[in-house]
Amino acid sequence: MMLADSRLAGMRGALFWLKVSIAAFVVLGSVVSHRFFCKYLCPLGAFYGFFNKISFYRMSCEGRCNDCGTCKKVCKMGVNPSLAPNSPECIRCGDCIEACPCKALKAGWEFGAREAAEE
Ligand code: SF4
Ligand code: SF4
Repeated sequence: MMLADSRLAGMRGALFWLKVSIAAFVVLGSVVSHRFFCKYLCPLGAFYGFFNKISFYRMSCEGRCNDCGTCKKVCKMGVNPSLAPNSPECIRCGDCIEACPCKALKAGWEFGAREAAEE
């Protein structure tokens, strides 16, 4: 018992520095990248992202898109909504919809036939 206690006590300092390192990594990542934890580390976000493909709330890009690239530039999640409007990375913030000069991007509830959806 004493041996186990002394081993744990010995690890305490290492565990502390491991936790500090992880926290520093996440904080620094968040400084250099928008939504760093959400984009690269969050397992729940990755799981929820799969539901974008089958979600009833869908985004679409209509034919009036002129490929200007504005939507891709404003997307903080690194998505190109003109090509993949229902990407698993999309968090449905709507920034691209507001920024599109052609009003080509739409979002809304869609019930019914899935074959009409893109991708
Ligand atoms: S901002 Fe609008 S027009 Fe420009 S690429 Fe995106 S969807 Fe197309
Ligand atoms: S809704 Fe937001 S996250 Fe999704 S593609 Fe548009 S800007 Fe990116």
